[in-house]
Amino acid sequence: MKTKETLNSLNPYVPGKPVADVLKEYGLTSAVKLASNENPYGYSKQVKETIVNGLDHLEIYPDGGAVQLKAALAKFYNLAPEQFLVGSGLDEVIQIVSRALLNTGDSIIIASPSFPQYAHHAVIEGATVKKVPVIADSGLMDLEGMLAAIDDTTKIIWLCNPNNPTGTYIKQNKIEEFLARVPEDVLVISDEAYYDYVTAEEQPTSLPFLEKYPNLMIMRTFSKAYGLAGIRVGYAIIPKDLGRFLDIARLPFNCHSLAQKAAITALKDQDFVAFSQKENKIEREKWEAFLEDLGLHYYHTETNFIFFDTKQDDKTITQELLSKGFIIRGGLKPGWLRVTIGKKNDNLRIQDELKQILG
Ligand SMILES: *Cc1c(COP(=O)(O)O)cnc(C)c1O
Repeated sequence: MKTKETLNSLNPYVPGKPVADVLKEYGLTSAVKLASNENPYGYSKQVKETIVNGLDHLEIYPDGGAVQLKAALAKFYNLAPEQFLVGSGLDEVIQIVSRALLNTGDSIIIASPSFPQYAHHAVIEGATVKKVPVIADSGLMDLEGMLAAIDDTTKIIWLCNPNNPTGTYIKQNKIEEFLARVPEDVLVISDEAYYDYVTAEEQPTSLPFLEKYPNLMIMRTFSKAYGLAGIRVGYAIIPKDLGRFLDIARLPFNCHSLAQKAAITALKDQDFVAFSQKENKIEREKWEAFLEDLGLHYYHTETNFIFFDTKQDDKTITQELLSKGFIIRGGLKPGWLRVTIGKKNDNLRIQDELKQILG
């Protein structure tokens, strides 16, 4: 059979190994997954109640328009419900946007390294991907380089802010300067999946610029600080004139009814988000101090993961840590590892192990 030719250059996504597989494979009694930036503190107890109480009427299709969730989001952001697109995780929202906008001959601009799904979906749609390396010293996106890469084929510029896997963020005044220099017909997407973990005084959000720049889209998810990665719900704040086209590209019942209910409750329980942010910050600072002590180059992170240079083969170290029960991410940049900030004891244990391997 003949598949789309564009698929030949791609591979299926390989997720971090499930804990159960690692236990079995290496004969371990405990293992911890620090590979997918999941929330080690779980999720809101109120959400659990909502899910348990929401089990009735699964025979009915979900609300494809996500009316109640969009109303809750509109209230939360003080925006209009039509300004939201809801999906089965942000991954799906990225797919919908790529599907609706990109054709063969178009191109997108992304930072490198950045979140891989932007390029993945662009290639499936036949578009070309222009990668602009982050600034090596600081890990910051090279905004000048991204502007210089714009040409007549450019449809989307993806800003991951803070950026996965570098953990770094673009300051608000830089975002605005950037938006002012992008042509009006190029969509700028600010993926703010880690926004809730940011504690820097200057918030890296493009929210204040929505009104002034109709070519701006912002993405957020319930998978990270809200701890709901398993139920799959994320959303975009979209330019109003794109709504109709995104709805055409979207599956009719794309977001699970329980996911919609869970998200509405999660949005109300901001205490849980604040708790996750606070605990994460404490542990994140310890990680930076640990890497400082070891003399390893890391990027200052505002997220729930940290990216650092081991100066050794990242694949060997990833494998060695796996055999000790620590599932982390290598293979993103030669020598570098991305580790999710875990709970206190898990962080101490993996740091001990790293010290032995690298020391
Ligand atoms: C985790 C992540 C996503 C996807 O989140 P889901 O809502 O779970 O699909 C999107 N963008 C970035 C940068 C991420 O790290």
